Amino acid sequence: MVRPSASAEPVSAVPKATPPVTRSPERQTVALPHGLAIGGDGFMVVAGPCAVESEEQLLTTARAVRDAGAGALRGGAFKPRTSPRSFQGLGELALRYLKEAGDETGLPVVTEVMDPRQVDLVADHSAMLQIGSRNMQNAPLLREAGRTGMPILLKRGAAATIDELLAAVDYIVETGNENIVLCERGLRSFDPSTRYTLDLAAVPVLRTRTPLPVVVDPSHATGHRHLVVPLALAALAVGADGLLIEVHPDPARALSDGPQALTPADFSALMDEIHRWIPPSGRYLSTVGQTVAS
Ligand code: PEP
Ligand code: MN
Repeated sequence: MVRPSASAEPVSAVPKATPPVTRSPERQTVALPHGLAIGGDGFMVVAGPCAVESEEQLLTTARAVRDAGAGALRGGAFKPRTSPRSFQGLGELALRYLKEAGDETGLPVVTEVMDPRQVDLVADHSAMLQIGSRNMQNAPLLREAGRTGMPILLKRGAAATIDELLAAVDYIVETGNENIVLCERGLRSFDPSTRYTLDLAAVPVLRTRTPLPVVVDPSHATGHRHLVVPLALAALAVGADGLLIEVHPDPARALSDGPQALTPADFSALMDEIHRWIPPSGRYLSTVGQTVAS
């Protein structure tokens, strides 16, 4: 497996003549609690439900993904739904469940923040702030999240160019925060066979444009459970630094994104494949494994 190491330029803005803001052109790693990191030689799988639905649903999922080798727990408290009539997330209650689940399993918590006014609240309950694809260009949100100094998972907009993604990065970098992980999650295309079209080329392209780690979300990109494993492995092969994977104990009853959710058993099978392909990729799995007592 080939991993181009050179990053030609530091994080760049649009237009390209703008001086780069990041200090270091070296490939960066973004540190999470418990000695975990995204980037460098580590490969991290962030897994969990699309939305936190109940304490039990979250804890069951968190324990399962931790035992299978996830390095962080995802789960939405505030959900960016297309329709206002769809489940919007449990909000603050979900944040409390996430904190509990993170404390119990030892998994750092990654959760989305949608509103600049809620940044402090979400930051108090998580280890990494997710900025979703719909908000990639929400400048006040990027600035407010950046100001916390916390690690930020910035998802590429479904119709955003790489230049636009990197310009969004600059909003965060301007606050003095360079703890940013980029996420490719699929682009809007003409073909409804998959929910979005996964731009795997974005991974090596971003390598030449920025020192920041890049992860891939095959769950939202494909929208279909059976496509998640092959594209997750493809993401590892093209040099991604990690994955974002949706897992639900009972996908048929999920309140959001059920068709793309892996069951805990599916997730465990995916992790078996990841374990198999990690050594030839020259990396190691960044995980709390079984070392944290539950
Ligand atoms: C998510 O990760 O829960 C999510 C809503 O993803 P996206 O912003 O990529 O649609
Ligand atoms: Mn989802």
